[in-house]
Amino acid sequence: MSDDDRNAEHTRAMHALKAERDALMAEKREGHGLLMVHTGEGKGKSTAAFGMIARALGWGYKVGVVQYIKGKWITGERQFFARFPDQVRYAVMGEGFTWDVADRERDIAAARAAWAISLEMIADPDLHLVVLDELNIALRYQYLDVAEVVAGLTARPAGKHICVTGRNAPPELLAAADLVTEFQAVRHPFEQGFKAQRGIDF
Ligand code: ATP
Ligand code: MG
Repeated sequence: MSDDDRNAEHTRAMHALKAERDALMAEKREGHGLLMVHTGEGKGKSTAAFGMIARALGWGYKVGVVQYIKGKWITGERQFFARFPDQVRYAVMGEGFTWDVADRERDIAAARAAWAISLEMIADPDLHLVVLDELNIALRYQYLDVAEVVAGLTARPAGKHICVTGRNAPPELLAAADLVTEFQAVRHPFEQGFKAQRGIDF
């Protein structure tokens, strides 16, 4: 086959692909407010949610973040988003890692307070995207009722995007979600004895 023939065939194939893709896209609807879940054992669930926040901010949207569980930790994301006080509402559940806190009742109270703020943010028409970071952990420890939470997420206003992160997302949440990504761990430096690092892990 000559180069000319090969080039002509390539062009034909590309046109056919484009026609196929255009036909597929013509059947798609405009996006609606998504319930997104990032779960699984691999690293990147929260990072991906914060990356999506960066995208939303870039378009001038306002966003809300509620961080469940990791109360006392200072994180890079928190310090960074504090630079956008007009665009980012940031709430942190106040009690530190669960395994530091023996008092289950106090954890439950903190989770309930965080959920109340989450509902407020979900209802806030100014917020384009609400990230509920590690909400799955609060559900796993049964600090919050799964049915109540799923009902609250499902009743979000039209057009509102919500991203829930954390390992062990409950099946009821997965069933209600529009987008589910399972992060798979292949290798993690923690297993080689390395501590979490600033700017990478927090
Ligand atoms: P990140 O915040 O880095 O996106 P994540 O949200 O996917 O991570 P979490 O379950 O919230 O993961 O855990 C957060 C912390 O645990 C981070 O320090 C992260 O590097 C670490 N981590 C994540 N996955 C693993 C793993 N498979 N083994 C050990 N540590 C992990
Ligand atoms: Mg996380």
